Amino acid sequence: METTDSATPKSWAMLHAKCPRCRRGNMFEGGMYSFGSNKINILCPHCHMTFEIEPGYFYAAMYVSYALNIMEVGFFCLATYLITHNTVSPWLYLSTILTGCILVSPVNFRYSRVILLYWLSPKIHYHRELDKVEINSGKENAANGFTNLKIVK
Ligand SMILES: [Zn+2]
Repeated sequence: METTDSATPKSWAMLHAKCPRCRRGNMFEGGMYSFGSNKINILCPHCHMTFEIEPGYFYAAMYVSYALNIMEVGFFCLATYLITHNTVSPWLYLSTILTGCILVSPVNFRYSRVILLYWLSPKIHYHRELDKVEINSGKENAANGFTNLKIVK
């Protein structure tokens, strides 16, 4: 593992769906394609930021998800054409689009919220001081690792 005090790159944090404020805590519990547990955490497990910064905030993620879907439909159409050179059957395109959109829906669910919080939320800023293993105490305690992590409610 790298040194604990180096800044986490934004692109890496977005790709791994980390908290936009500390870039350490996971936004989601469970894996992207794991059944039953694909939901967003209420609080960041690292810096305790509330992800849904106001009630109903993630309704806005629907618009991001819609935009992602439009791009994916375009991609699936183009890929289907390039692979099959089909210009006759609309059913081939329709079935490819439907299957593809269902398969990538967990990706859309995650990254629509990641994009919303990282790019479209002016209230949320990256806090460099929170981007380290131990956030409640100084450097000398960071050497002790996770033994003295405090849970702040
Ligand atoms: Zn955080």
